Amino acid sequence: MKTLLPTSTAGSLPKPSWLAEPEKLWSLWKLNGEELIQGKQDALRLSLHDQQHAGIDIVSDGEQTRQHFVTTFIEHLSGVDFEKRKTVKIRDRYEASVPVVVDAVSRQKPVFVKDAKYLRSQTKQPIKWALPGPMTMVDTLYDDHYQSREKLAWEFAKILNQEAKELAAAGVDIIQFDEPAFNVFFDEVNDWGIAALEKAIEGVSCETAVHICYGYGIKANTDWKKTLGSEWRQYEEIFPKLQQSNIDLISLECHNSRVPIDLIELIRGKKVMVGAIDVATDKIETPEEVADTLRKALQFVDADKLYPCTNCGMAPLPSRVAKAKLNALSAGAELVRREL
Ligand SMILES: [Zn+2]
Repeated sequence: MKTLLPTSTAGSLPKPSWLAEPEKLWSLWKLNGEELIQGKQDALRLSLHDQQHAGIDIVSDGEQTRQHFVTTFIEHLSGVDFEKRKTVKIRDRYEASVPVVVDAVSRQKPVFVKDAKYLRSQTKQPIKWALPGPMTMVDTLYDDHYQSREKLAWEFAKILNQEAKELAAAGVDIIQFDEPAFNVFFDEVNDWGIAALEKAIEGVSCETAVHICYGYGIKANTDWKKTLGSEWRQYEEIFPKLQQSNIDLISLECHNSRVPIDLIELIRGKKVMVGAIDVATDKIETPEEVADTLRKALQFVDADKLYPCTNCGMAPLPSRVAKAKLNALSAGAELVRREL
């Protein structure tokens, strides 16, 4: 990566209102069949354009082709019944209707590879592609078959590894695994969560990242954050082992959070995607606020390893807010670049 402080987003961006109901998670598609396929491609191009217009350096599909960052991937696997849904409590926090594992899971065909090739054909910029992490997948479904979170995570890791290798071959530069569950189940993360993640990235030819946040800006998450006290030290539980892992980049929530920024010291040596945009508020950051977060992070990350980013996905935000936040991220990163 030639640019210093290359900017990117954690992943999802708002969908156009003609494709799916905006400002909502698990929003239903408004199109069907061939129209839906074409509509998703059009939305991907629009999302790419918004990122490029804002000057984002590492671009993505804005997750325009998926309804949800976890369930859409799971629904493409065999062994999962996605018509007979069950309600589970996700990350011990909020209830959601999720698919059921009824048999051994496997990937009969690629899930996102076609979409990634399409994005690749639209830009020469570095591209990042998000996949759910094994632990977060396990936590976002109902298991009626394995009866073991660890065993199921291991099966998912093998499947993710197949997908990741094909995404890398399709020209993806960074594959990011979303693991918000890492911020909740510390013992499991250290017992088998990071091992499963390393299985997922084994032999993958491009760079790999893990995104660990405090979730989308939805009420269940903001309510949970209120219970976490004045200092959020969750990262402290998992950083030592992550620092020892083979993952290249770690994507974190920072701005407006109560994460003590010096915890980043625990992953010294890793590239760090520093969340400098709060996705839980419509208030637009000023470039100076973004720069301030980045300057604080620079005390603990070498400049060539700092990747300015958003705290999490922006899918639930109004489109104009998300665009303005992308602009703020770019402008803030530029302020700090000039100081270096
Ligand atoms: Zn996130």
